[in-house]
Amino acid sequence: MFDISGREWTEEEYLRLHEQGLVQEKDVVKVIGIHNKTCERCLNQSDEWFGTFIYKGQLITYCRQCLDFKMVDNCHYLYRSLMPAKITQNAHVLNLDFKLSSLQQRASDFAKNILKKGETGIIWAVCGAGKTEMMFETIALALQQQKRVCWAIPRADVVIELVPRLKQAFPYALVIGLHGHSDEKMDYGDIVISTTHQLIRFYQAFDLLIIDEVDAFPYTFDEMLPRLAKKACKPTCATIYLSATPSKADQIAIKKGALKCCLIPARYHLYSLDIPKFQWAGNLEKALKKGRLPNAVLRWMRKKLATNRRALLFVPTIEAGHFLQQVLKKLLKLEVAFVYSSDEQRISKVKAFKEGEGQFLITTMILERGVTIADIDVAIFCAEHEVYEESALVQISGRVGRNPKYPHGEIIFFHYGITEAMDAAREQIKRMNQSAWKQHLLKEEPKYEMSSLLSIYRY
Ligand SMILES: [Zn+2]
Repeated sequence: MFDISGREWTEEEYLRLHEQGLVQEKDVVKVIGIHNKTCERCLNQSDEWFGTFIYKGQLITYCRQCLDFKMVDNCHYLYRSLMPAKITQNAHVLNLDFKLSSLQQRASDFAKNILKKGETGIIWAVCGAGKTEMMFETIALALQQQKRVCWAIPRADVVIELVPRLKQAFPYALVIGLHGHSDEKMDYGDIVISTTHQLIRFYQAFDLLIIDEVDAFPYTFDEMLPRLAKKACKPTCATIYLSATPSKADQIAIKKGALKCCLIPARYHLYSLDIPKFQWAGNLEKALKKGRLPNAVLRWMRKKLATNRRALLFVPTIEAGHFLQQVLKKLLKLEVAFVYSSDEQRISKVKAFKEGEGQFLITTMILERGVTIADIDVAIFCAEHEVYEESALVQISGRVGRNPKYPHGEIIFFHYGITEAMDAAREQIKRMNQSAWKQHLLKEEPKYEMSSLLSIYRY
């Protein structure tokens, strides 16, 4: 079904749709793309992002900040739909084959309350808490009230993964996935699952906005994205942020009481989170380049081979990943697959590993979040590297123990000096365990190895 509610089109897009009889003039309002020093599409007001050129003797001002989505300038219109959204009959009917845990229910009730009051709130839930399921009742409630829902996520991979889950949970609803390469860009959705960038196609379209992984790149690094999110929402829209590792700014807002927060400190299986171990391994980057592995790493790898444990091996750069691949082949006769963002086969490689192929998988930060592999250990190489911020280290640590059958695993940070981020990540995980234990949520008391409590090596 073609979507004409809450959409915004460039002049070229609108004229094409109008010609095809898909949109009528009476159903839209038009605004000049740039006026009053504001880009009406991305709400940029900063002079440095406006460019100019002369065309047929006329000075044209255009916006560079949203230029990836075709040019908006001061002599063409943007067209905004006035048509209200029509929610499909029975869209709200929820098909669930499981019951929420009491903790998930706590978050679900919090979210429903945010929706009812049209407020903004954050669910801060540890990795493996079952965040997606926490939102189902709220989505059902919104749809029942004829409200349109948007689930925004920074990364296209996660959009693709989430669409079938939402389709299964809401079998009568129209669920569409929008990302750079999707072919559903013009389709209507009761539930729109979208990368944050694709929100640029909407104007006051949604009544409930869920922003998943709100702390993740690129949402926190691209100032345009929060503006697009705001523009895509109706003024009365409720907004729910989901995160396992909120940004410092959000953490401060939570502490001050400026951002309503529901903290979920335990996983849905109610076993404690595993604490990372720190292991000094010298200058690993240099060693890898020279085709060597420090004894500490070799010992760990041999132990994994002897005990038949599978592991994800995180590297900070693509270069380090290739070197590690070569070193493992040379020293341990291991053929290990390597995945990174520009690797065209990454999806099939990850799928194969998930299905049990290979004992190890080398990866850059692309598998930092969103991936679930049962019964896995994790090692971070060069954990002192600047790419490993506190949130990244917490997320990577959160890859182990996600399956209730295998609720624990080993996390080891091989480093060349402990960084503040490493310490802060470990503290954050411990704090969550303690909070969960104090609330009598856990099935077992969190265990700490002595080595994980000692921060001997300072940078
Ligand atoms: Zn713009």
